[in-house]
Amino acid sequence: MTTRDIDVTLPRETHNDRTMLGMPTVPGRGNLREVAPFQEASAHESQNVQLRTNLRNATHSIQDKRDQRVAEMPDWEQLRDAGEAIKSDVIARLPELLEQFEAAFTARGGHVHWARDADEANDIIAGLVEDNARVNEQGRRDVIKVKSMATQETGLNEALADRGIDALETDLAELIVQLGNDLPSHILVPAIHRNREEIRRIFLRGMDDVDPDLDSQPAHLAEASRKHLRRRFLSADVAVSGANFGIADTGTLSVVESEGNGRMCVTLPKTLITLMGIEKLLPSFGDLEVFMQLLPRSSTGERMNPYSSFWTGVADSDGPENVHVVLLDNGRTRALADEHGREALHCIRCSACMNVCPVYQRSGGHAYGSVYPGPIGAILTPLLTGVDEAENGTLPYASSLCGACFDACPVKIDIPTMLTRLRAQDDEVNHGEKIPRTQLDAALKGAKWMMSDGRRMNLIGKALPIAHITTPSEGMTDLPGIGGKWTGTRDIPQPPKSSFRSWWKDNRDE
Ligand code: SF4
Repeated sequence: MTTRDIDVTLPRETHNDRTMLGMPTVPGRGNLREVAPFQEASAHESQNVQLRTNLRNATHSIQDKRDQRVAEMPDWEQLRDAGEAIKSDVIARLPELLEQFEAAFTARGGHVHWARDADEANDIIAGLVEDNARVNEQGRRDVIKVKSMATQETGLNEALADRGIDALETDLAELIVQLGNDLPSHILVPAIHRNREEIRRIFLRGMDDVDPDLDSQPAHLAEASRKHLRRRFLSADVAVSGANFGIADTGTLSVVESEGNGRMCVTLPKTLITLMGIEKLLPSFGDLEVFMQLLPRSSTGERMNPYSSFWTGVADSDGPENVHVVLLDNGRTRALADEHGREALHCIRCSACMNVCPVYQRSGGHAYGSVYPGPIGAILTPLLTGVDEAENGTLPYASSLCGACFDACPVKIDIPTMLTRLRAQDDEVNHGEKIPRTQLDAALKGAKWMMSDGRRMNLIGKALPIAHITTPSEGMTDLPGIGGKWTGTRDIPQPPKSSFRSWWKDNRDE
C-alpha cells in the first residue's frame, strides 16, 4: 500500500451513517478473532476463581493509583479535551500527516514500508530480519522485541517462527506470557491473570538458565528475567518494536515503558524495525506535552513514564545504523470510513477503560478472543474486522453500558454510544430485522411502535384505569413467558389510576 491508495479528498458524503472517504477498506486480519461468542467465552472464564481474584486485585490497585494521580491535576479535564482535539485533528488529516511523516522519516535516513494487512506486515518484517540478522548455530535467526500491541495483533512471533526466526519478548509481562505459552489478557499488563507463584513455576519450566531454588519474591523473579535477557540484548542484530507515537513533522518514533528493556532494544542492535498502526501519529513534537501527561497517569498511575525513548532516523555512532518503520493499516481505513466508529482510532492504549470495566474484571481478557480486550476491544475489534467476522458481532454486547469507560478515557472516546451503534449493526448485518427472534424482541418492537406516536400513547393512558382495577394491589408477581424473567426477580407494581398526561390536564391550573 502507498499513500496514493488513500484518497485525500476529505470529507465526505454521508450515506446511512457512514462517511465515504474513498479509502480502501481492507478488513483486519491476524489476532482479531473471537473463537466463541463472548457470552459463552466469558461464562467459561468467569468460573476461574483464581483468575477473578488476580484480576480484581490488579485492576483495583492500578485504578486506585490512577485516581490519585488524576486528582493531583487541576487541569485534568482540559488535558482530556486537548487530547481529544489533537486526535480528532489527526484522524481528519491522516493522509496528509502520513505523507509528512514518511517524508521526514526518510529524510533522516529511515526506511518506510506500508502494510495493507497483518500478513503483509509480517512478511515485510521477516524479510528485513532475514537481510539483517546472522544465522545462529541452530540454523535459525534471533530478534529481540519491545512490548507491542501491533505485533500481537499481526501474530508476528508465529509468522517469524515459520520463517526460522525466534523472537524473544523482553518486557517482563510479555516474557511471562511467552514462556507460559499463554495469551495476553490485558493491553498494559499482559500477564495480569498470573500471580507470583504461577510466574515462579513458569520461569522454572521455561528458562534454561534459572536458579532451581528461585522463590516467588518479586525482586528475585525480576532478577531471574534480567539475567535471562541480558545476554540476548548484547548479541542481537535486530530488534522489533511497536510505537506509542509517531511525530509527523519531525519523523520521530517513540516508545514509553517502565522497565528499560525497551530502551535496550531500541539502542543496542544494529537494525531496528518498528511496526506502527497508521493512527498513532501526532502532528508535532509539541503535542507530546499533552499525551506524556495523560498516558502515564491513565495507564500505570504514574506521574511520568520511567523510560521514554525517542528516535529520529539514524545518527552517526549513536544507536541503530539501520532504521525501518512499517506503517500498518489492517482494518484502520475500514474503521476510518465509519463516521462514528473512527473515534475508536483516537485510542492511546492506556487500558484505563478495562481497569474500571465490571465486565472485564469478571471475565478477563481471554474471553474477548482478540488481542484487544475490555471496552476498547469490544469496539475496536469489530470496527477493524467488521461485525460479520467470526463471532466479533457478539463483542459489542460485552458491556453493561455503565459508562465508567467513557469517564476514565483520557481522550474521551464515547465507548458506550459506539457499543450501541455496533449492536445495531450486528442486528442488521447478522440477524436481519424482519422476524423478531425472541419474545423480548417482539415486546421491544411493540413498545417502540406504541411510544413513537403521541396518539397511541394517549390510548395507553386511557386504558390505565382499567389496568389499575384488573391488577392486584400487591402488583404482578408471576407473569408467564418473557415477563417471567422480570417478575422472577422483582414485582410490577399496580398501574396508577390515571396517566401523568391526564393528571396534568386536570390539575395544570391549580
Ligand atoms: S479507549 Fe481510552 S481508556 Fe481505553 S485504552 Fe483507549 S485511550 Fe485508554
